[in-house]
Amino acid sequence: MSFKDLPLNKPLLRAVAESGYTEPTLIQQRCIPHIIEKKDVVASAQTGTGKTAAFALPILQLLFDKQDAPKRGKKIRALVVSPTRELAVQINENFKTYAKHTNLRSTVIFGGTSIEPQIDVLKKGVDILIATPGRLLDLHKQDYVNLDYIETLVLDEADLMLDMGFIDDVKKIERLCPEDRQTLLFSATIPYKVEQLANSILKEPIRVDV
Ligand code: AMP
Repeated sequence: MSFKDLPLNKPLLRAVAESGYTEPTLIQQRCIPHIIEKKDVVASAQTGTGKTAAFALPILQLLFDKQDAPKRGKKIRALVVSPTRELAVQINENFKTYAKHTNLRSTVIFGGTSIEPQIDVLKKGVDILIATPGRLLDLHKQDYVNLDYIETLVLDEADLMLDMGFIDDVKKIERLCPEDRQTLLFSATIPYKVEQLANSILKEPIRVDV
């Protein structure tokens, strides 16, 4: 399969080609079409399988497709929750690479570092926010993050998120997002705890295992 067989537009295909990717990985082949159809997806995939692009590319496609000019760059429309700062930063770098020929904007917020520069970027407006749970809730409480316009919520590394004790924060974040949003859950493994979380917050999810 080639990237051209996936329903991705030219600016995204160009960025993918410039990244040197010749064909989509298995997780990308299996996730991208469902995500573009706005289905909820539970995917088990380890880091290194290309899982970040498996959600980043279709999210960019969905946001780009909706020529919703008044909202572009003004409302956060996609939220990716990640357990660690390192992962969150990496995900944001991926989004920036794939979005470079679009005018969609992303940023990353995480704890353990000064909050002001993060507030400054949020004030300018972004389409996609990547965040660790604690800092996200903090900035939401301070009214710098509005989750009322989220169209797609991604929980990345869900097993790690639960192991690190973020379950209550994740549930809080999920409740702050609109009910009719799309939800994607990625996890290296899907133990019972992760399955329970998926069952409680996803709607008729498609299950993808690679
Ligand atoms: P991830 O699993 O998201 O951490 O991605 C692992 C690495 O694979 C990253 O360095 C990506 O840039 C790279 N990658 C993602 N998709 C592809 C692809 N289709 N072909 C080649 N490399 C890829």
